[in-house]
Amino acid sequence: MTVADRMNHLGTETAFEVLAKARALEAQGKEIVHLEIGEPDFDTPRHIVEAGINALRNGFTHYGPTPGLPELREAIARNSREVRGISTDPAQVVVTPGAKPIMFYVILALAEPGVEVIYPNPGFPIYESMVRFSGATPVPMRLLEEKGYHPNLDDLARKITPKTRLIILNSPENPCGSVLTRQELETIAGLVRRQKDLYVMSDEIYKDILYTGEHHSIAAFPGLADRTIILDGFSKSYAMTGWRLGYGIMPQELVPHVVRLAVNSVSCAATFSQRAAVAALDGPQDEMQAMTAEFAQRRRLIADGLRSIPGVRCPEPEGAFYAFPNIEGTGMTSRQFEDRALAEAGVALLSGAAFGQYGEGYVRLSYANSQANIRKAIDRLDKFVRSVN
Ligand code: PLP
Repeated sequence: MTVADRMNHLGTETAFEVLAKARALEAQGKEIVHLEIGEPDFDTPRHIVEAGINALRNGFTHYGPTPGLPELREAIARNSREVRGISTDPAQVVVTPGAKPIMFYVILALAEPGVEVIYPNPGFPIYESMVRFSGATPVPMRLLEEKGYHPNLDDLARKITPKTRLIILNSPENPCGSVLTRQELETIAGLVRRQKDLYVMSDEIYKDILYTGEHHSIAAFPGLADRTIILDGFSKSYAMTGWRLGYGIMPQELVPHVVRLAVNSVSCAATFSQRAAVAALDGPQDEMQAMTAEFAQRRRLIADGLRSIPGVRCPEPEGAFYAFPNIEGTGMTSRQFEDRALAEAGVALLSGAAFGQYGEGYVRLSYANSQANIRKAIDRLDKFVRSVN
């Protein structure tokens, strides 16, 4: 089969491949601790599930408007005003099946050959994949272990050229767990303001999973609301990965382009999922807060545990539910560590190299798993690393 050349430029997300390998080992009777997949292990809170079931019973089984149900776009705008302190109009909101399509559409709408896009590295692999697919040039913004996986902003300033059209930010960050500070965002906002036709895609999907301080959005800085596309969704905050529901909040001018891409690909997000999402935003938030409190305990457990393993360093995760330890001292490459941890220790985790060239020397562990399983994984990894040395 002759496939289109553009397929050679599309990358992937290896978490799903490692999951498949782990499942194959389980089918042979092996017991695996799953720390590879980035999804909350909790069930969706009851009242949200009930709202989804009621919606199905009440006929929300049809197509809906492409940008989303009006009641959900309003709820998202209200929530964004409260959480980010920015004036958000429901007409700026586009709802999609998961937040990933927002990434896809925004990059397709803004990036093209001759354009440069700056993105975090190590970072969510789909950013670089999509930028390459669009024909634009991906320019990595390195996150530095010695700075707790924050970027060097002088370096960022040097990377912005007249060709830069988009800067992708992700805070809290996957895979590093770092959270950009207010001052850092202010500095980046200043850099963006200096150049015409430069935009930010701010991936805030982990904004509710924070261990210290408050969430800050770059969109809230003077002049930045018109330059920012906020990407957010329900997968992580409300344990709703399978409902497939996310959204973008963007400058009005961009909305018709993103909606056109949605019409051409998905038509709309599932309407019963959207009704459940209204209940998520407008209902009690205590279960979401309880999930974050549990993640905080697991973070302690995994960070301390990893640091006790010889040859492993682990900066403190500040948000999201990932630990990103440096494993160079074990003598293995990231990929060797990933393969051998699965085969020899029964622990599924991801090579840091799957998150970009600056991820070599690191691995990612998702701590969206029980404390008992995290203890088991640390114990197994400790024995495994000691057996290698
Ligand atoms: N952004 C980041 C940084 C993520 O880690 C993920 C999921 O893993 C997403 C966006 C997309 O989430 P979803 O499409 O499930 O809403």
